[in-house]
Amino acid sequence: MVVYNFSAGPAMMPSEVVEQIKAELTSYKASQMSVMEISHRSDLYAQMFQEAKADLRELLAVPKTHRILFLQGGASMQFTTVPLNLAYKTKRIAFVDTGHWSQTAIADAKLLPDKEVDVIASGHENGYTALPTKIKAQKDYDYVHLTINNTIEGTMFQKLPELAGQTLVGDISSNILGYQHNVDKYGLLYASAQKNIGPAGLTLVIVKEDLLDQEQDLPSMLDYVKLIKEDSNLNTPPVFPIYAAGLVFKWLKKQGGVAQMQRQNEEKSNLLYEQLDNSKLFKATAAKADRSLTNIPFTTGDKALDERFVTEATQAGLCNLKGHALVGGMRASMYNAFPYAGAKALVEFMQKFEQQVH
Ligand code: PMP
Repeated sequence: MVVYNFSAGPAMMPSEVVEQIKAELTSYKASQMSVMEISHRSDLYAQMFQEAKADLRELLAVPKTHRILFLQGGASMQFTTVPLNLAYKTKRIAFVDTGHWSQTAIADAKLLPDKEVDVIASGHENGYTALPTKIKAQKDYDYVHLTINNTIEGTMFQKLPELAGQTLVGDISSNILGYQHNVDKYGLLYASAQKNIGPAGLTLVIVKEDLLDQEQDLPSMLDYVKLIKEDSNLNTPPVFPIYAAGLVFKWLKKQGGVAQMQRQNEEKSNLLYEQLDNSKLFKATAAKADRSLTNIPFTTGDKALDERFVTEATQAGLCNLKGHALVGGMRASMYNAFPYAGAKALVEFMQKFEQQVH
């Protein structure tokens, strides 16, 4: 039976990349050492790291003004690291509350003793099924934080709010490299790797260097200035996740880059959204104008029927469709490595299920 993995993360990796990892796992580049065993001080590692960084810069069209950091601690660690590094002038941060992950970022920023945290817009009123429309910043902030793709609620900023003069920070954990972000428009972007890149353990930060205070002295592992100075090698880096990410970056370049990934993600998500919009049983929960390309929550509106659907889908090889515990129902996550055939299989299964139930 063919199995399709709809997990929100850790998620599918390109099978060619997994095969390559398998083939060279015991001896990396004829070294007779596994990539898991090589030193982060070796030339082998240095070359791998520099190539991965250069490929990422090319894929995302990162301008020269911005530096790329390969870190650890997940996107969650950035909920603290970003305010520590960027909120030092006005010490004021604005957040747009678009659901669970933005709320987690807000809660962590509020724990920092000397920062003022304002929530300038919220999707609370519509249960986070749509993004807030009136996003205005009344004060000068060190930055405005946006969760660009809301993994749980299935919403995504298709257009950035007009906030002249404000620095934007974006959490792009669930659509990095799957959607063409304009890096130039941001002071900082961050994402963890385990959704659209590779194994968990690697976190990417892209930061405009002139936003940083060179004098500020923060704990080393939380200090972008020190991390940039050591080219992300301040302590032992996660060599294996960086290696796997590097292979995924090469795979992406071969596929045609981010523009091609976005087209494919549109094809897959359109197929599913069309089915949802035409169905008498299933319904997409996110507002049409704000729909995510990568995370698609849906429901029958009946808890028992949703559970039956998830159970029967799993038996048919359509795995990890259970919605996040916070919202229930179903969720199909389809990132870059997820094949069109999987989206088609899900749509066909939904049609069959609907016929049986109605
Ligand atoms: N932000 C978003 C948008 C996410 O989807 C997630 C993970 N699901 C996180 C942050 C947290 O990421 P991590 O588990 O890597 O800390």
